[in-house]
Amino acid sequence: MTTVPTPQSSRPGDLSPEEFRAAAHAAVDWIADYLEHPERVPVRSRARPGDVTSALPASPPKHGEPLADMMADFERIILPGITHWNHPSFFAYFANSSTYPGILGELLTAGLNANAMMWITSPAATELEQVTLDWLRQLMGLQDGWFGQITDTASVSTFYALAAAREALGLDIRARGMAARHDLPTLRVYCSEHAHSSIDKAVIALGLGHDNLIKIPADEHFRMRPEALREAIATDLALGHLPMAVVPCIGTTSTTSVDPVPEIVRIAKEFDCWVHVDTAYAGPAAIVPELRYLLDGVEGADSMVVNPHKWLFTPVDCSVLYTKRPDALRQAFALLPEYLVTKDQDQVVNLMDYGIQLGRRFRALKLWMVLRAFGADGLAERIRFHCELARDFAGMVHFEGGWELTAPVPLSLVCFRYAPAHASEDAIASMNAAIMERVNAEGRAYLSHTKLNGKYTLRLAIGNIRTDRSHIEQVWSELRAAATAVAG
Ligand SMILES: *Cc1c(COP(=O)(O)O)cnc(C)c1O
Repeated sequence: MTTVPTPQSSRPGDLSPEEFRAAAHAAVDWIADYLEHPERVPVRSRARPGDVTSALPASPPKHGEPLADMMADFERIILPGITHWNHPSFFAYFANSSTYPGILGELLTAGLNANAMMWITSPAATELEQVTLDWLRQLMGLQDGWFGQITDTASVSTFYALAAAREALGLDIRARGMAARHDLPTLRVYCSEHAHSSIDKAVIALGLGHDNLIKIPADEHFRMRPEALREAIATDLALGHLPMAVVPCIGTTSTTSVDPVPEIVRIAKEFDCWVHVDTAYAGPAAIVPELRYLLDGVEGADSMVVNPHKWLFTPVDCSVLYTKRPDALRQAFALLPEYLVTKDQDQVVNLMDYGIQLGRRFRALKLWMVLRAFGADGLAERIRFHCELARDFAGMVHFEGGWELTAPVPLSLVCFRYAPAHASEDAIASMNAAIMERVNAEGRAYLSHTKLNGKYTLRLAIGNIRTDRSHIEQVWSELRAAATAVAG
C-alpha cells in the first residue's frame, strides 16, 4: 500500500507563514516554560551511549513529515539526551546560561540569516560587532585601542592570536611555510602548567610542534612563576630557539587562578614575545568595579580572549578576540580573490580579513541585546552574586570536619574535597569520585572534577543566572549525604 503524503503547505518542504507563526509561538512558549522550571529535568542526561542513535531512523524521510511529529520526537528522543546547562544546579566545568535577550538575538539572527563575510554583505552586522565589542571593552575597564572580533570559541580565538604572533615575527611563514627552512629557528610558546588545552591545540594546528609549547611551573596558588618563565626563555635562547609568544591565563580552568600578568608582560616584552591573555571564563568579572584588578597588566598584552558564552549570559557560541595589532592578524589571513573585491573595501572593516572563515554568523546581535538588557549594573550584580555564592559554599566546606578546600576561591569556582583524617591519597580519590558520581546520578546537581598536583579534587562552578542560595545549600547537603554513604 502506498501512502500519499499530505503537503504541509502550498510550498512543499517549507512551512507556510501561518504554520511557522503558530509553531514559533508554541516553541517560544515551550522555551519560557522550560526556563521557568528548569529543575523539572535531571541536570545530567541519563542517556547511555547509543540511546539517541537507536531511537532515530537510520535513513532520512523520503516525504516531508509533519511538524507535530518532529516536536513530539524532540520531547521524546532529544530531550532525554540533553544535559541541562540551563539548570541552576549545573556546577560542572564552567557553568553558563542563556538568557531571554540572548535567545531573542539568536532567533532574529536565524530569521535574518545574514552572512556577514564582508561589510557590504550586511553593513549592520559588521558595524554592530565593532560597536558592541567596544562597549564590552569599556565595560571591562580596558583602554581604547583594542580591535575586537567575534569567533565561535576561545579555542579559535587563541589559534588566531598565535597565528598573528607567528606572522608578526617577520619570518614570512605565511608565504614560505616552515618545512625544510634552515634559516628558521625553532619557535617556542610558553604557558603555565595550568593553561587550557586550547593553547596546545593552537600550537599543534599551527605546525609549531607540541614539544615547543613549554609549560611553566606554577606556585602553590597555581599561578605561573615569572622567574621560571624567564629561565625557560633564557634556556631556549641559549639553544638557538626563538621565543614567539607567552600565554598567561586570568582564571585558569582547574582553579581560576590568576597568572601575574604585569610581570609576565614585562618579561615577554624584554624578549619581544607576543603576549596573548586567555581570560575566556574570568574576563567578564572585570565588569564588577571591585574585580577590575583582575585585568591588571592586560594593557601591555597584544591580544586577549574572553567568552561571553561563558559568564556573560549569552547563548553558545560567542567568543571575543581582542587585539592591539589587527595589522598582524590581517598579515596572517587577508586575501582578496577577484570575486570578493568591493568598491568600498578600503574604507570599511571586512571581517573575513581577520581569520580563517569567510562566512560569518551575525553573533553580535545577541551580545548587543544582552548588554543592553542588563546594563553594566545588572551584569555586575549577577557576577558579584555568583562570587558571593562561591564564598558562601567555600565557607560551608571550610568549617565542616573531614572536608577541605584545595585552592583559593578568587571568583565563582570552588575546588574542594572530602578528605577524612588518616585516609590515603588513593582512598580520597576513589571516595570523591564515588561521591561525585552519586550526586550526579541523582540528577538534582551536576559537578565535575580535576587534579591539582596529583590530588583528586571536586569543582563547583557557579555561573548560571538562575542559581541562588538554595541550590548551593542543596548540593552541599547532597554531597555530605553521599560522603556518609560512600565512607560507609
Ligand atoms: C573555557 C575555556 C577555554 C575554551 O573555551 P572554548 O570556547 O570552549 O574553546 C579556554 N581557556 C579557558 C581559560 C577557558 O576557561
